[in-house]
Amino acid sequence: MLIDCGMFQGQKEWRERNWQPTPIPAQGIDAVVLTHAHLDHCGWIPRLVREGFRGPIYATPSTIDLCGIILPDSGHLQEEDANFYNRHKKSKHDPALPLYTLEEAEASLQYFRPVPFEETVQLAPGMSFRFVSAAHILGSSMVEIALQANGQARRLLFTGDIGRVRDHDVAPGKVVRSGPTEGETADLLVMESTYGNRQHPTNDPRPELAALIRQTAQRGGSVVVPAFAVERTQKFLFMVKELMESGQIPRIPVYCDSPMAIKAVEIFLKHQDECTQETCQLIRQYGSPLQWAGFTFASTAEESKKINDVKLPVIIVSSSGMVTGGRIQHHLMQRLPDPKNTVIFIGFQAPGTRGAIIKSGAPEVRIFGENVPIRAQIAAFEQFSDHADPPELLEWLRTFTRQPAVTYLVHGEPAASSQLRDIMTKELSWNVQIAQWMERVNVE
Ligand SMILES: [Zn+2]
Repeated sequence: MLIDCGMFQGQKEWRERNWQPTPIPAQGIDAVVLTHAHLDHCGWIPRLVREGFRGPIYATPSTIDLCGIILPDSGHLQEEDANFYNRHKKSKHDPALPLYTLEEAEASLQYFRPVPFEETVQLAPGMSFRFVSAAHILGSSMVEIALQANGQARRLLFTGDIGRVRDHDVAPGKVVRSGPTEGETADLLVMESTYGNRQHPTNDPRPELAALIRQTAQRGGSVVVPAFAVERTQKFLFMVKELMESGQIPRIPVYCDSPMAIKAVEIFLKHQDECTQETCQLIRQYGSPLQWAGFTFASTAEESKKINDVKLPVIIVSSSGMVTGGRIQHHLMQRLPDPKNTVIFIGFQAPGTRGAIIKSGAPEVRIFGENVPIRAQIAAFEQFSDHADPPELLEWLRTFTRQPAVTYLVHGEPAASSQLRDIMTKELSWNVQIAQWMERVNVE
């Protein structure tokens, strides 16, 4: 049984791992249990199927819906990248191949099996699992495994990514409810540590965000927001709507330029049972974001290009979130050189990405082979994160009914994992270890 099947992203040494064979043959895996639809958790699934996996892939219904747009998009990007390298002869591999194609990504979707939250699935005699809420993104879950090992009942908990533990002013505008399931019990805990060495600001970002939008509009400028198409874009749009309806910002046109974001909005509307009361209230009052007056969702390339001609103040939300590709590149190329405009980052910018370069205060950035001067105002908010930080994680861990015999930290930069280990050891006196690549452990 494989829990999550993510794609390595970021630095080359990591990405190269995507091309290595699986540590055990794909045909030897009976089932995949998937915590959520982010690519670093699900993005290798089409490749696993290509390598021969034919078993069920268990996930929550909303995770399956999101994978239905995210995996084909990933396959499409893989093919585009391979084509680009082949055209420009930039790869030492001749020809460069996609990790998987759009078609293979679509074909992998047939193996998905929906499992609602808190429903137990018997995988094999003496082995069952269920999903509990992780409150990270729509559909996100932790995997609780009940196991008979040497005649003993054992519980394992794999957290996947853990969402914000508290709501309201700390993480306002959340589309999906905060607060992972409390009162867990585990003999062995495998836990993420992304934010192990960082803390989220605790102030409400809305007043500052409203002021930035007001000031930009007053000087005749536009606001450009790079954002992931799924979750982050919806979160930002709901917040903008709320600021407009409460009169904190002017009703300037809002453009959401991402075909995937449109599909994601529809999936959010379908799964409102996972949404916050504030989000449900906004939908009840104003209907689908796709119908909001003044909000335009651009699907085709033609619709996208038309946004360039708008000279009056507007708000443009587009992807990719780190400006590594996608339509946001056109909007930034057009709007970065003008000091009247403002670029607002609401997500993490990985080192080396165009987003990180723009955010760092650099005088120019290379987009489509051109040096684009950065004269627009640049701002960044850290409050939009969908990961719990150490104080929130401790709050959640303190709800455990007993302490796990051992906790393994995964999914974090080395500095983040080691700091979280130290915090948990000091504050909780738990036995915490950092999982090593290819490490084997016994469930005692
Ligand atoms: Zn995630």
